[in-house]
Order: sequence, then C-alpha cells, then structure tokens
Amino acid sequence: MIILLLSGFFDGIMKHVLGDMSKQLVTSKSDLASQQIEAYINKPFQAATLLSRSLSSKDILSPEFIKDELSQILKNDFTGENDISRIGYASIKGDYIALSRISDNNRFRLIETAPNNQYQLVTYQGESNASPVLKTVENYHLLKRDWFIQASQQMTPFWSLPYLHISEDKGMVMTYRTPVFNRQGQFIGVINVDINPDTLSHYLDSIDENHNLHIIVAGQQQIVAASDTRSLSNITMPPLSLDNNKVTLPQLSDSKTLNEIIPSHIWTPQKGNIPYTVYQGNTKYWVQARALTDHDHLLNWNLLTITPAALPSHLFTQSSKTMMLTIIFIVSFGLTGCAWMLIRFLTPLKAIAEQARLLGQTKHIKWLPQSDKRLFPEIAELEQELINASDIINHALQTQKKLIEEDASTKLPTFAGLLAQKDLYTERQLSGLIRLANYPTMANTLGKAYAEQFLIDFIDILRDALPVGTSLSRVRVDILAATFPGVYGHQTIQILAKNLQDLFFNVSREHDHVFTGNIGLIHQELNSENLQNTLLNASLALHQAQQKGNGFLEIFEPWMHNESMDNLRLHDQLRDGIRNQEFHLVLQPIVNLDDSQNCVEAECLIRWQTEERGFIPPDKFIAIAEKTGLIVPLGRWIIEKACQELATFIERGAPRNFKLHINIASLQFCQPNFTEHLLDCVQRYHLTHNNICLEITESTMLTDMENVAKVLHSLQRSGISIAIDDFGSGYSSLSYLHNLPFDTLKIDRSFVSDMLSNKKNEAVIASVLNLARNFNVPLIAEGIETKEMSAKLYQMGCEKVQGYYFGRPLKFSEWHPSNGAFKLELEA
Ligand code: C2E
Ligand code: MG
Ligand code: MG
Repeated sequence: MIILLLSGFFDGIMKHVLGDMSKQLVTSKSDLASQQIEAYINKPFQAATLLSRSLSSKDILSPEFIKDELSQILKNDFTGENDISRIGYASIKGDYIALSRISDNNRFRLIETAPNNQYQLVTYQGESNASPVLKTVENYHLLKRDWFIQASQQMTPFWSLPYLHISEDKGMVMTYRTPVFNRQGQFIGVINVDINPDTLSHYLDSIDENHNLHIIVAGQQQIVAASDTRSLSNITMPPLSLDNNKVTLPQLSDSKTLNEIIPSHIWTPQKGNIPYTVYQGNTKYWVQARALTDHDHLLNWNLLTITPAALPSHLFTQSSKTMMLTIIFIVSFGLTGCAWMLIRFLTPLKAIAEQARLLGQTKHIKWLPQSDKRLFPEIAELEQELINASDIINHALQTQKKLIEEDASTKLPTFAGLLAQKDLYTERQLSGLIRLANYPTMANTLGKAYAEQFLIDFIDILRDALPVGTSLSRVRVDILAATFPGVYGHQTIQILAKNLQDLFFNVSREHDHVFTGNIGLIHQELNSENLQNTLLNASLALHQAQQKGNGFLEIFEPWMHNESMDNLRLHDQLRDGIRNQEFHLVLQPIVNLDDSQNCVEAECLIRWQTEERGFIPPDKFIAIAEKTGLIVPLGRWIIEKACQELATFIERGAPRNFKLHINIASLQFCQPNFTEHLLDCVQRYHLTHNNICLEITESTMLTDMENVAKVLHSLQRSGISIAIDDFGSGYSSLSYLHNLPFDTLKIDRSFVSDMLSNKKNEAVIASVLNLARNFNVPLIAEGIETKEMSAKLYQMGCEKVQGYYFGRPLKFSEWHPSNGAFKLELEA
C-alpha cells in the first residue's frame, strides 16, 4: 500500500518535473530554431554582400567574371545543401546571369539571358552555356520585371514573397534582392539570392527529434514554413496552393485546430520568453512565440513552437523509469528495513512488558532474559534492570509473605499461612479453635513479650495433648486453630476433648502457669472452599464454650449458627431501637443493712421493650452492643438519661446526696471524650459529682491499664465514685487492685445466689469481704432474694446489699419518697 502510494507520489513528481522540463525544452528548442533560422535567412544578405563587393570593385563586368564570382560563392562560401540555392546578378544593361544549385548531387546549373538575344532567358543543364539547354523563356524583359524596377527605384534590399521560378523548376523560393552600385555610387544592377522555404521546413524538422511543432509565420498569418505535425496528430496543417505558377501561402486561420491553439494574440513573444499556456478542449499546450528577422530587418516573421503540456510518452525515457523504479525499490527496501527493525525492537519490549506484568504477583515466575534482543543493547540493559528489580521485589515479596503467613514468635502458620498451605487442612475431618483466655491479661499486665512466652509454653504442653500429625496455626493473637488427622468418632472426640480441657484446669508443672481458655471443635471435612466457613462455625462453638466458663469445650452444632444469625438480627434491631428511643431506665435500690429503711443509693439499669420481640434482657443485648460498638451511642444516652432522671428524682424529694450507680461498658469507658461528656451531663442537670458512682467490670480495668488508671484517678479526684462490678467472676489476678482506684466492690450474684447451700461460695464471699475491708471499701452483695440471705450477709459483716428482696428494678417515677427521707416500697 505504502509502496503504491509512494510510486504514485513519485510518478506525480516525475510528471511534474518532466512537464517542467518539457516546458524548458520548448523554450530552448525554440531558441535553437530561431538562431538557426536567422542564420539561414541571413545567408542571402552575406552572399549578396560578398558578390556586391566584388561587382562594385570592377569597372567592367564581363559575364565570365560574374560567373566566376557566382561559382565562387556557391562552391566555396555557401556550400551546404541547406544553404542558399541560387544566386544571380541582373545588370542594368538587361543581362541576367545566375547560378543555381541542383540540390541532390551538388551540381550547378547556369541561367542567363542569351548573349545574342537579351530577351531570351536560357537555363542550361550544367554550369556552362556549352551544356545542353534545359529551358528557354522567351520575351524575358529583365528591366521590366517588377522586382528589378523596385530595386532600381528604392535602392535598398528587399525580399520577395515565396514564388516559383520561371526559369527552372526549383519549387517554392524566396529571393533576397539588393541593388548593386559601382564605385561612383551609380546603380548598376540587382543581386538576387534564393533561399528555399521547403529547406526551412526540413530544417525545422531536423532540429527537433521530439517533433515539437515549429511554424514560421510571416506578416498576416501566412505560414512560411512548418515542421512535420506527426507529434501533434490532432493538428492539421493547411496545404500550400500553387496555382498558375503562383504561390499562395496557407494561413493559420485556414486550419481550425491551428487557429484554436494559436490565436493571434500570442504571436508576439511573451516577456522573458515564457511559453504561453493554451488549451484545445482539454488538451493543454505550451506555445513559445519568438520574433525572427534577417540582418536588414526586412522580414518580420514569428516562430511559433508548440508542444503538448502532457508529457509525451517518449519523453518519459527509460532512464526516468529506471530512476523511479530505483526510488521505489530503495523506499520499499527502507520501509521493509524499518519494519524489520521495529519488529526487532518491539518484540523483546513486548516480551519484557509481559514479564513485567507478572512482577509483584504472589506467584512469581523467574524472569528469564530474552535471547532475541541483542540488536538493541538498550533493551538488554532495560531488561537487566528489570531483572534486578524483579529479584528485589521477589525477595521483598518472600519476606512479606513470610511475615504474613508465619507468626514470628511461635513460628506457627498464621491464618493466611493456613489458607495458603492446603496440606495443613485438606481432607481433615476434625478441626477446632483453642483460645488462651488469659493471654490478653498477661499482655496487658506483664507485657507482650511475657505473654508471647506464655503462649509458647502453652503450645508446648498443648502439643503433648494433641494427636501426632495435628497441624497448629495461630489464627488470632490468643486463638490457635488445630486440624486433626485421621477419622474421629464420637468416643475419640470425647477423649480428645477431655485431654484438651485438662490443660485449662491443671497448673502446668513444667512452666508453673495456670492457663485459662476454651475450645470450640467442629466435625466436618475440610477443603479449600469451606475452610473459612468451618473455622467461623468453630468460633461459634468456642464462643458458646466461653459463655460457660473457663475450660469448657463445645462442639459446633447448627443451632449455634442460628443463634449467631439471631444475634445479627438483634444487632439490627438494636440500632433501630437506639434511633427510635425504645429504651428506658429503671432503678434498683442498694440498701445499707444497718438502715434498710432509708435508701440513698441505687443502681440504674437499662430496659428494652420492643414492639416486635417484647422485652429483651440486658444480658442479651448489652453484650452485642459492646461487640458491635453500639454501646457507645447507647451508653451516652444512658448517662444523659440517668442524670436527667436523677435530677427529677431529687426534685421530687430524694436526698441531694443520693448516689446513682451507672453501669459503664469497657468500650464506652475507653472513649476519649467519656469523662468530658459525663461531667457535662452532671453539670447540666445541676447534680454534684458525689451523686454518681460508675460501675465498671474487671475487664474494663484490664483493657488498657495505664489509660484506665489515669481516667479513674481523675474521676475519683473529681468526687465521682468507682465500683468494681461482678467482682470475682472473671479474672484470677488481683494485682490490678493495687494500681487502680475504686470505692466499692460489688461481688457477683453467682457467688451470692447459693451461698446458703454452697460452703465454697460462702468462703469466697468471706474472703472478698476481707479483701474489701483491707482496701477499706464497702462490699455490695448483689442478688439478695431472701431474708435469710440478707441475714447471713449481715452476720458475715457485709454492709450493703442489692436484690429483689429489697427492691426490684422499677422506673424512677415508680419510687415514692416520704417525710423527707426516701422510703423503699419493700416487697412483702
Ligand atoms: P449488673 O450490673 O451486675 O446488674 C445487676 C443485675 O442483677 C441486674 O440485672 C439486676 O436486675 C439483677 N438483680 C438484682 N437483684 C437481683 C436478685 O435478687 N435476683 C436476680 N436474679 N437478679 C437480680 P439486669 O438488669 O438484667 O442486668 C444485667 C446486666 O446487664 C447488668 O449486671 C449489667 O452488667 C448489664 N446492664 C444493665 N443495665 C446496664 C446499663 O445501663 N449499662 C450497662 N453497660 N450495662 C447494663
Ligand atoms: Mg451493675
Ligand atoms: Mg453486677
């Protein structure tokens, strides 16, 4: 395609160039022709001058002398076939002598008035009057001939129009006639020199092998001579007419075609000798016009050279074609070369781009250098740089992968590592999650490094309890996943469960540690598709086990999944509940056993009454709110509402120093603006800081000890009391009590509820009472439902109690003060 376009392009250029060349050619051909023609038409003048000089120099002109001179001129001075064809001298005495060239064999013939009869003009076959006579013209009166009379009268040279000789058949001739004078300046005769217009035509043909059409036009459109019209076949040349020995020159207007091409206005040469552009129909021509004249400026001729503007095929020479073919070949070769280079350049680049695309992908493929790019060292260099980069990225990826897939301290696979190593779990039927519950406590109290070592020790003893071939991975900071090899039936699972549970009940002899935690198992064959889901279900079993307490193990059952879905739904409802303000607060008195009739302290508890599901107990939704973070907006609402209710309650007659216990969840307590918001509420409802006691659990205290301690100290300094709720239910370590401020301990209901029948729990209560005494804070026992329990606690030295026996939680408005003191409506 490109080659075709290029060849068309070059063809166009060539045509243009050659067109211009042909234009130049016309001009130069016309130049050449005009020079030659002028030289030709000047020859009669030169010949006449020569003859005139020698004739003028003699006083007596003998016929022999004249013949000699004529012969001299024709044979020596103007010898060519295309030179003058005849020269003669006509004397004033009436004699005429002429010598004429016989064109084909360079012979001459004599024409003269007969010596014995002046009125007889004799043409001889040869150059002497001894040769045979060719023709005789009678009654030849030289002195009466028009031309002689004209010469004798005007005394200056002139040209005849083309005519035919009467003396010989020589074809059309034109004669230059000049008067001759003797040394005294007297007119003595006329010299005639002939040229032949046919010779001019032949001559015009011969000078131009390209056959441009040259026409010599005289005076009024008469065509004096013209070259052959072969190259311009559409031009017809009008014929010459010879009638009664009279010559009538054809006229340009005689030919329609010529008249169209050469209208009269273009005869005159254009300035700068630029050719005219003319059209005949759609054909374009260049016409070069040039003035021609002889030495004496007697002839006013024009030479018109005509050539078609379209390049004649013969002008498009072989060399031009060869040149064009060469150019096309070179261009094609160049293009092919460029394409080849481009392919050699782009192919390795493409391969490099292909490889580079794989850079940074998890499955890295080793970058192999390409072999076909040596042509460009830059590409080799680029690839080398990329190979280096690839190695660096590869190395970084491997390191990163290791960091992601392998736990640094235990060297166990992480969850990502487990996912990546199918052989660790595929086709295993039993798997489980083991949570080391006291790991976070260790980390928070004794530091991360200690906790990590604690975990490593746990893994040590765990391995002994696991069947050979069990794969362990650390899927969360405190949770290990185990996949067990082999087939498990109900019994084998029970045995395994027992072994695992024992870990959490016995003190490790080797490490001197107590490990707390839970296990969630799931009996389901693992594959790469269900791994995540199965472990999620195991985590539900673990969660259930955690709910039951330390060391419990649960095996996943479908209802756990349903429950978790239920919790999800609950979460949605909780969100709507907060938005729709479906909550309210209730008050449960805390009674001083010494003065149970006067209540100056109570716990504020939340209640949720939904339209859809009826009453939902806090035990159920608080935990979800804590997990999902909804406890933060809910907790803010509780504080706000509690302060508002207390203010109204005091307004209604409750003592000004009434202390309201507000439960604060761990996440809520850790909010950065928690204190600010609390104090703002207290102030807004014109309460004092002494009106508020915050109930926090041990878990809150252990979340972020440093920060919690800071907040607690500042709250306590401001007058707000702190109670540690559900004391004894969760954590084994009591060391935090030394570091964190608190004003009250509330012992968990689970110890109190069966204290009368369970000696152990009674012992726990006794020791917590002792602990409270040592810390010099009161103990509140929760869940007192009977008079006996109350009495027993009183007897044990417990000062404060809370329970249904003294009062069920009721709305603030349902409590009635009387006589300025707050009297509780006790149940019967
Ligand atoms: P808690 O803070 O230990 O509250 C005491 C719980 O014991 C209350 O349960 C109360 O109704 C119940 N109780 C009191 N006396 C007796 C009794 O004699 N017998 C029995 N069986 N139960 C008694 P409730 O209101 O269901 O609250 C459960 C837990 O929900 C609370 O335990 C507390 O942890 C949480 N909670 C309740 N309200 C709020 C709240 O406003 N904010 C936060 N963060 N947690 C709350
Ligand atoms: Mg409480
Ligand atoms: Mg409690």
